[in-house]
Amino acid sequence: MAYLGTPSATKEIINKYSFAFQKKFGQNFLIDSNVLESIIRGAEITKDDFVLEIGPGIGTMTQYLCEAARQVVAVEIDKMLIPILEDTLSEYDNVEVINQDVLKVDIKSLAEEKNNGKPIKVVANLPYYITTPIIMGLFESGVPIDSITIMVQKEVADRMQTGPGSKDYGALSLAVQFYATAKVILNVSATCFMPRPNVDSAVIKLTRHKEPTVNVADEKLMFKIIRASFNQRRKTLVNGLKNSPELSFSKEQIVKAIEKIGKPETIRGEALTLEEFEELANAFTELK
Ligand code: SAM
Repeated sequence: MAYLGTPSATKEIINKYSFAFQKKFGQNFLIDSNVLESIIRGAEITKDDFVLEIGPGIGTMTQYLCEAARQVVAVEIDKMLIPILEDTLSEYDNVEVINQDVLKVDIKSLAEEKNNGKPIKVVANLPYYITTPIIMGLFESGVPIDSITIMVQKEVADRMQTGPGSKDYGALSLAVQFYATAKVILNVSATCFMPRPNVDSAVIKLTRHKEPTVNVADEKLMFKIIRASFNQRRKTLVNGLKNSPELSFSKEQIVKAIEKIGKPETIRGEALTLEEFEELANAFTELK
């Protein structure tokens, strides 16, 4: 089987199986071998690695992953793609395809069972609507992760990397930066996919921090504070925190905590850095 990462090879497979693209599954297949090679290089996959691929499609990137990694598990939701994957991956004995919605897979047990609980690498070209739940799910559920290399909408890549002062700064930026270092590996134009999506994309690599970079006593409280701060962007931090259904601090306590971290009562949440959210969460913990 020749590599699939070209328009002609992809068309051949689509025609052979009369495959109909499903919009609801965000099916845009990569047809550019340079992009595929850059993703594999950027993800730094070695023969020691166990790789989880989410959404293999017809197996285009999976073939490259099988060549580079020790073992690959690919989770694909669309059952129509399973016979295709059996065909396109038939030459590899280090791959297993699971026909499931990835949001329903217990990835922690998978890593335990297949990689002795050692950190895994995740590589994915995903439908954009499930990007955030997947990334947050992987980080928050304590799956041992080395890195997540993922194709995202360009704006989402910007949001993950940015800090205070940018309109893109928000809860996703802080969550990603709390768990990982984010680095864009590659910008990918819509012409590299079949069919073409309406947006430009970027491949971003999230390398999980070995040790937490911030020292927060109550992580859950910090994320509640972060969500409350960005839910009401145009309000002051005091009002955002006061109106949050997840928090039950009085106005007096909120003002006290904000003063404790040396900020004025009028400050907006979007002006705080990750370290300042950490200090604020710790200030609330001490008030309790
Ligand atoms: N990796 C292939 C490539 O690069 O050509 C396909 C990428 S395509 C953008 C996204 C793939 O994710 C599709 O094959 C789609 O069926 C699959 N998918 C969508 N939602 C999924 C889910 N919840 N769980 C697992 N796979 C999913």
